[in-house]
Amino acid sequence: MNVLLVYAHPEPRSLNGAIRDFTLERLRQAGHTVQLSDLYAMQWKATLDAADNLDHQAGARFDPSLDSRHAFEHGRQSEDIAAEQRKLLWADAVILQFPLWWFSMPAILKGWVERVYAYGFAYGVGEHSDARWGDRYGEGTLAGKRAMLIVTAGGWESHYSPRGINGPIDDILFPIHHGILYYPGFDVLPPYVVYRTGRVDAARFVTIQDELGQRLDRLGTTPPIPFRRQNGGDYAIPQLTLRDDLAPGRTGFGVHVAGVHEARPRTASALGADAVAAP
Ligand code: FAD
Repeated sequence: MNVLLVYAHPEPRSLNGAIRDFTLERLRQAGHTVQLSDLYAMQWKATLDAADNLDHQAGARFDPSLDSRHAFEHGRQSEDIAAEQRKLLWADAVILQFPLWWFSMPAILKGWVERVYAYGFAYGVGEHSDARWGDRYGEGTLAGKRAMLIVTAGGWESHYSPRGINGPIDDILFPIHHGILYYPGFDVLPPYVVYRTGRVDAARFVTIQDELGQRLDRLGTTPPIPFRRQNGGDYAIPQLTLRDDLAPGRTGFGVHVAGVHEARPRTASALGADAVAAP
């Protein structure tokens, strides 16, 4: 497979740096072709602004969405944006690797998403009407590709458990999994999370290599999180609310994962749900 690793940590000698090197080596040993976007090393520009549209006229009002659409449609995007889009189109699988900073991704990686996910590329794709709300959430430019997060967190695993003080890790990562990866079409694999990083030593790093190595070996076969498809009949259009008979009486992020709150026949998607519950 072609694999793109998008990596965000400022220090190569960090735990994340070691995990990055291990990941690149493991993937290459397995025969994959790998590209790395090392955002700090690239001095990636994190802020979306008028300079991203090469046709933007000085003094004209800047519209982040419409300038993005114009630049994308007319081949007038800043070259660093276009280069990252080419990498995404090239990749069969994309891995985002980052330390959890304030319950989300570092700003430089958020800025990569904001700038690379152009109007017409990652959003505003497909027919928009009363009957159809675009190609997104399971459809879109990046459909058919796989994506996975590698995340390190200072907090303990129990702090991120279903009743943990920080909130469940599935909820914390939902905006990235569902909003950033599933939205433009990726099949999203369960994340690999390293908790309690302050206690990582040489012995624990061996365990990390073993666990992560197995996850990387199964990058092409791990069942994705069975998020519901927007256009698969589970949602009323154009309200885009989940049908009342699905996950009845429940709300929250979890209702958008098929099979978690309802008994379903053991179809392929239900098998995927089982795999998520016990990775
Ligand atoms: P490092 O600090 O580089 O290393 C961690 C440990 O691993 C060290 O003990 C180091 O000796 C060891 N190590 C490094 N390399 C190796 C190796 N090759 N072999 C063996 N051991 C090694 N945490 C949360 O849980 N939630 C948050 O919301 C959150 N917000 C944060 C916000 C900010 C701004 C910052 C700075 C931190 C935050 N943290 C948070 C903590 C953060 O997630 C961790 O500091 C980070 O994940 C650790 O990753 P690192 O690569 O920087 O580790």
